[in-house]
Amino acid sequence: MFNDLAALDKRHLIHPVVPWRAHEKRGVTILKSGKGAYVTDADGNTLIDGFSGLWCVNAGYGQQTIVDAVKRQLEEMAYATNYFHYGNENAVRLAARLAELAPGDLNRVFFTLGGSDAIDSAIRMIRYYYNVTGRPAKKHMIALQRGFHGSSSLGSGLTALKNFHDDFDSPAPWQHHIASPYPYRNPVGQDPQAIIAASVQALKDKVAEIGADNVAAIFAEPVQGSGGVLVPPDGWFKAMREAARELDILFVADEVITGFGRTGPMFGSEYDGVVPDMMTIAKGLTSAYQPMGALMMSDALYAAIADSSPEARAIGHGFTYSGHPASAAAGLEAIRLYTEGGLLENGQKIAPRFAGGLQSLYDHPLVGDVRVRGLLAAVELVTDKECKTKPDAGLNISHHLARLSYEKRVIFRAFSDDIAGFAPPLCCSEDDIDIIVSRFREVLDELL
Ligand code: PLP
Repeated sequence: MFNDLAALDKRHLIHPVVPWRAHEKRGVTILKSGKGAYVTDADGNTLIDGFSGLWCVNAGYGQQTIVDAVKRQLEEMAYATNYFHYGNENAVRLAARLAELAPGDLNRVFFTLGGSDAIDSAIRMIRYYYNVTGRPAKKHMIALQRGFHGSSSLGSGLTALKNFHDDFDSPAPWQHHIASPYPYRNPVGQDPQAIIAASVQALKDKVAEIGADNVAAIFAEPVQGSGGVLVPPDGWFKAMREAARELDILFVADEVITGFGRTGPMFGSEYDGVVPDMMTIAKGLTSAYQPMGALMMSDALYAAIADSSPEARAIGHGFTYSGHPASAAAGLEAIRLYTEGGLLENGQKIAPRFAGGLQSLYDHPLVGDVRVRGLLAAVELVTDKECKTKPDAGLNISHHLARLSYEKRVIFRAFSDDIAGFAPPLCCSEDDIDIIVSRFREVLDELL
């Protein structure tokens, strides 16, 4: 039966972000079930998931109360729109709960289906805001090199990964990138204050180059995820936020990965005490039990948009599934598990074990850098620690990492540039964390 599946997959399913022909040859591992931090594939092999699916199953697999909440809603009513003058209780309650939890006055919530359309919504709303408030020249948007902001038509240009641009006619001329803080490989060195100062200066220089009157916003992740888990120095996010305020541009925190306890607090912005103008969330919002994302905005921004819009004109932005009641049910229950259910606290409790475990890998000849914040981490591999030499491209390390990840039964993400990314579920025990680390050490040993 699963041979049939493999053939059908090859024949029909277009997978996200893979080289299509190479992927057909390689095939897929069909995942069948999950419990806690463990998943089992169609051949009956059980792996520990050190990456929470795609950094999204923050609560872990098999959380029965989330399943029950979704089921209850589906039985009662499969869908209730938020269009026209209708609404549904779960969406209202989830918006209110998010407003309660989010930093500062981020009290207004627009629901999406995931992170890409949350970013897309931010871009559209920012344009709309400047147009209706009489500053239509403010169109240019800035993001960080190695940043990731999804793959919608607009957002993929803010994403700064080459394969999201090449042959896609992206980025657009109004999309710009400044250097990533990337402490391990920053040209200014590893001194935190120098890195922060360089980032702030890069933002100021870019705004001066484009003209302050033409710049709308900067988008940044509190920790850059898909760019290789680049943990910035403490205070970096706050300095960038303050610089944006001084430059009179909006600051959008992309918390699609960093939200919901991933880096310790509920939101990554809290780590540095940042209140952004807008925040995008997804993934951990429902712990991936249903698809959902959101764009949150400050009361001030909401009021400016609402009060400046022509009274009789509907603001033309919305999706059929904005605030889907079953997704909102999953969100409410996932958040209950993070808070009253103690998952956030457990994540914080196991974080030192996780950091310590990964840092113990520094004695391995291939480990150049270990970077961790909360339960988000990366290990960067080098062949010469002193010179930080990357392994020869011909060795195709990321391919071997991906293969060994399966062989050693530990899921992590093998980034293309010899970086292994980790984001274990918040429900892990310290023993689970030790298993992830020890199996990863076995992976490294195989590479020698
Ligand atoms: N923003 C960030 C920071 C992300 O990491 C991602 C996805 O990984 C996205 C946006 C896009 O989210 P989605 O894949 O749900 O569209």
